[in-house]
Amino acid sequence: MLLPLFLVIIIGLSQHAGAQAPQSLSSSEILLGIKKLNVLGSVLYIGAHPDDENTRLLAWLSKERLYRTGYLSLTRGDGGQNLIGNEQGINLGLIRTQELLAARRIDGAEQFFSTAFDFGFSKTSDETFKIWNKEKILADVVWVIRKFQPDVIITRFPEDTRAGHGHHAASAILAREAFYAAADPKRFPEQLLRGAKVWQAKRILWNTFNFGGTNTTAENQLKIDVGSYNALLGKSYGEIAADGRSQHKSQGFGVPKTRGQSIEYFTTVAGDAPVNDIMDGVDISWARTGNTKVAEDIRQTIQQYDVQQPDKSMFLLQKALFDGFKDNSEEGSPLVNRKLQEITHMTTACSGLFAEAVASKQMAVAGDSIKISFNVVNRSKTTLKKITISYRDTTFTFADSLPYNQSKTIVLNSLVKQEPMEDQPYWLKEQMTEGSYTVKNQLEIGLPQNNADVVQLYTRLDSVQLYMSFPLQYKYTDPVKGEIYQPVITVSPVLVKISPAVILTNTVPKTKPQLSVDYETETNKAAGAASIVFSNGAKQPINISPRINETQTIVFPLDSVVKSKKDTSLAASIVFADKFTGNSFANYMRLINYDHIPTVHYLFQSRLKIINDEVKTEGKRIGYIKGAGDNVPDALIAMGYEVVYLEQADITEQKLKTLDAVITGVRAYNTNEYMSGKYNILMNYIENGGNLIVQYNTSSQIGPVRAKISPYPFEISRNRITDERAAVKILQPSHAILNYPNKITDKDFEGWIQERSIYHASNWDSHYETIFAMHDPGENDDEGSLITAKYGKGNFVYTGLVFFRELPAGVPGAYRLLANLIALNHKKGF
Ligand SMILES: [Zn+2]
Repeated sequence: MLLPLFLVIIIGLSQHAGAQAPQSLSSSEILLGIKKLNVLGSVLYIGAHPDDENTRLLAWLSKERLYRTGYLSLTRGDGGQNLIGNEQGINLGLIRTQELLAARRIDGAEQFFSTAFDFGFSKTSDETFKIWNKEKILADVVWVIRKFQPDVIITRFPEDTRAGHGHHAASAILAREAFYAAADPKRFPEQLLRGAKVWQAKRILWNTFNFGGTNTTAENQLKIDVGSYNALLGKSYGEIAADGRSQHKSQGFGVPKTRGQSIEYFTTVAGDAPVNDIMDGVDISWARTGNTKVAEDIRQTIQQYDVQQPDKSMFLLQKALFDGFKDNSEEGSPLVNRKLQEITHMTTACSGLFAEAVASKQMAVAGDSIKISFNVVNRSKTTLKKITISYRDTTFTFADSLPYNQSKTIVLNSLVKQEPMEDQPYWLKEQMTEGSYTVKNQLEIGLPQNNADVVQLYTRLDSVQLYMSFPLQYKYTDPVKGEIYQPVITVSPVLVKISPAVILTNTVPKTKPQLSVDYETETNKAAGAASIVFSNGAKQPINISPRINETQTIVFPLDSVVKSKKDTSLAASIVFADKFTGNSFANYMRLINYDHIPTVHYLFQSRLKIINDEVKTEGKRIGYIKGAGDNVPDALIAMGYEVVYLEQADITEQKLKTLDAVITGVRAYNTNEYMSGKYNILMNYIENGGNLIVQYNTSSQIGPVRAKISPYPFEISRNRITDERAAVKILQPSHAILNYPNKITDKDFEGWIQERSIYHASNWDSHYETIFAMHDPGENDDEGSLITAKYGKGNFVYTGLVFFRELPAGVPGAYRLLANLIALNHKKGF
């Protein structure tokens, strides 16, 4: 009799993330959760990037004030710098999405994103809006506000240059405009047909700050202490915030825990100015829904709460659910619906019920079947009755009864009916534009990630109906890390890719470019004759016998495929000569694994970029000292060099002697503490005729450069040229860097992506020469993108030019210029 009620309630159940160990709440966490049922206020915080959010404030709003709290990050942080690996762009965005979700699991807020792409540093909001398409991103923000329905909106940044970044200022402008637009039925009316409702927030505030050398706080602003201690959690909000903030590992944002008073400042951007509190004038009780019975039920539940036996609270919560449901309107107010879901969730939490669904393997091959183990443990003293489980199109009776502390498992074989693209992160399903992701399904806009495929469980405990939903997961036990849960990933029977991503066909001296086809399978059913089909029409028959968990490689000389000089971009797909299905597979899967986040994956079609421009090289052996991670060594190999990776122990006079140049990876001096100890060896290497090329390092709060880098002093600034089309003025036309072995011209600066340079040199010693001058619109020329000095018989270069972006993107000029830097100690004629 109760079931239909629950069916109503679960409609629209929100954000279900994959890959979390099943959570059971402690008695005090349950009490906090029950208290939250009686609070109906909500706050949406808006910033531009993962890590912009004020985690202490979010934790305090969510766990002290018990408001529904959200963070809308306009971007996924795709353009940031990665301190833990070599992922950049959308890959980094995927990592930072998960880092935000990990932070939200700690501070209790919900996470949202717009479709805006973090294209890297931007100096002004005008430039940002040009690239993002302002109206499109405004629509996203309006959509999130209309769905979330916040009472108060808080921005992190002001609209002007005090924001420090064009994206930051843009986030404040969009938040203010969306505050009005969300309430205007004439703005984005198509959203109102998709389930969004016009929404007027009470006010929009700016959470002023004092960091990065800018103090925007003032004593006449609204002040609130958010540093308090939560006894139910045994933590202060400064401690919770530090745990959340330290999840931003790719940005190196580990922070210390703070305790004691912590004042936040607010000024009013629009709406009623608050006098005493951010929620002034907002009714945060059930009275705002016209239903006060629920509040009384919950008040009683709190009063009678038994820490030893939370399950006693189920009955009053069930009464609250009935009272809430009875008075709810026909279609249900979104606010009441949400609170009823929360009541359902807390009722089940009181019971201590454990349930999970675990797949026999992480990779589910479309068309194959997988084994799923459904496990339920009754941890209440009362026997569970009539346990029903639903997964996709299957519903079955799991058990008629399950007594106290009995664990029961049922294993089912399930055919994998979903297509691999269903698991593709929704924002990567369509071709993106320069400034934003393309999302066709409006209902997905704002979500942090795809909603997981959930398993649903219904059961009864005494007279109380319980409901749980949880994702299908894969789990295993690592001898060191313990039990690990991971998402189940749907894959096609065969995965295929071609590599390398960039091939140079016109190097001097000549190289013999080859291309590789890698393929792998997760099933033993894939076999047969196949061919690789290239986008230029070329076909390469191959005989493959894919074996599970084994990547196999076939290598071709490039000239068997590339017949024309015009083939500068190629894609490949593999087609099975399967006479029954004729299936073809063209995708490969990128998996991103880090301990602090669940496995992330997406499918892509690999592309081969062919550079036919002439690239002359001098020298043969290049030493590479890895920094924070970049793909520059792949480019060096494509140019015909031999790359010798240098670890700490390899940096010896003996070993360096054999190298034509030593290149340090991006931020090598920030990430490798040992570099200070190698200073003398590297300087001796230069003095004796070597060539040291240092790619950018940062001088920010993240790992300041303590090591000495160069023979003569210079400093690292935060100057950069963000306009990738900025004109490059050549200062010394006859310098070797511009002439040998490649003649560098304006053409070599065409087709650059994202930016020209970052972290320029500044205040350099008079021994240095500069080669280029460039500037962003409205600024003065800056010569710090590349400085070079002779030292002894050798050469030193520091450069903020973004080779690490341009080489993998296949920009010919970047290859030619890098070849010249490497040739500096071979100066024939110079
Ligand atoms: Zn930011």
